[in-house]
Amino acid sequence: MNYESHNGWPYKHIEHWPPMTYRDRSPPTPENLETFFGILKTESKDNQVKELQPWLPFCEGKCSFCYFTVNCEKQNVTPYISALKKALSFYAETEYVKTSVFEELYIGGGSPSVIANEKIEDILDFCRKNFNLSSDHTTKFTACTTNLSLEKINALSSNGVNQLDIGIQTFNDSLRENLMIRDSSKDAKKKLQLSKKNGLKISIDLLYNLPGQTIDQWIEDIKQALELEVESVDCYPLDLYPGTPLAKKIAKGELPPIGNEEIEMKMYLEAYRIFKEYGYKPTCHNRFSRLEEDFKKPSSEVVGTGAGFFMGHLDRYLYSDIEDLQKYTNAVKDGKFPISRLTSLSADEEMRKAMMLIYIRNPLNRDWFKKEYGRFPEEIFSKELEKLQNKGLIETINGNIQLTEKGDPWRFNIAWEFFENKQHE
Ligand code: SF4
Repeated sequence: MNYESHNGWPYKHIEHWPPMTYRDRSPPTPENLETFFGILKTESKDNQVKELQPWLPFCEGKCSFCYFTVNCEKQNVTPYISALKKALSFYAETEYVKTSVFEELYIGGGSPSVIANEKIEDILDFCRKNFNLSSDHTTKFTACTTNLSLEKINALSSNGVNQLDIGIQTFNDSLRENLMIRDSSKDAKKKLQLSKKNGLKISIDLLYNLPGQTIDQWIEDIKQALELEVESVDCYPLDLYPGTPLAKKIAKGELPPIGNEEIEMKMYLEAYRIFKEYGYKPTCHNRFSRLEEDFKKPSSEVVGTGAGFFMGHLDRYLYSDIEDLQKYTNAVKDGKFPISRLTSLSADEEMRKAMMLIYIRNPLNRDWFKKEYGRFPEEIFSKELEKLQNKGLIETINGNIQLTEKGDPWRFNIAWEFFENKQHE
């Protein structure tokens, strides 16, 4: 592969996000709220893989690049958890959720490991008592190495947590400082080792194309992750959000700018090459993994709630919650579902979404598609599929349409191909 110059690229720019993220959603209308509540009164379809996501948007401090709404005020935790449990009950009491079985419990948000152990136990208990979690469900917990004491690690593993998702971002101390990460690389590594020693699987996030980061520094980050034998690594190119301290420092010239797209691509391809060499395969949005379960059918429904929660997917609805913690808590106290954005997918959009999911490295079975939508993919998306095939970005093997190795770095651009008038050339 030669991506040294834009000339050889199949697209002019590298997309970082697929269509249909929370960014594209609008506030709910009374009509779509009513139909959403109507769905909640019905029985759920039993053929969907479901995930439950309580959202705890608390962190010890805010990282300079972070665009999530997170809260660092400890006094807000107790009232928030009461509101969160109440909001979870709104869902738990519906027919739809009562007839749903969840394969995964994912505690997300900021870094909920900052919360006291008894409160974490309380939330985990609450979810297990009030929702039908399958007997072999997986529990994943988002954590930050700064607050992963041995007691915390023990509390998590003895309460059924199987995996920690940890935002390491980089092992390079000077880059960590620029990102305002609160512990040293040495301390962070010790916590990862301790967590592994105590039986937890570890998935880490690494960021690349950081301001001033060289390719060698990036390769070093990957090597350190491999040395630590983490189970999976999510590699994200840095998205610089205006208004974040990091973006401001770069704008003022206090930090160097981020690298251009050629550098970004080069870094991605290095990650792809090295992880492949060490037996980690690409999966999900940005992950290299050696965990078998990461290659199973992904969750098609996510029931969750919390201030800033944005992954809601229930039947044909996508939803996000109120971001502001106080407003979220007040809405729940008033007995309202704290939904701030809600989109209902039309039949056509559902079909496009099924097509675009090849971007998460999930092969699309042609026969399954025909059974669901009445026609084979190429009968509906002939133009798009032909273009992608001609560019060598996708291939069909044993009736499955999937990304090629060449298409992998362009997976988000490929996802956009299935959304007419929204294409990012
Ligand atoms: S720990 Fe994660 S969620 Fe919290 S501020 Fe840093 S990047 Fe954001």
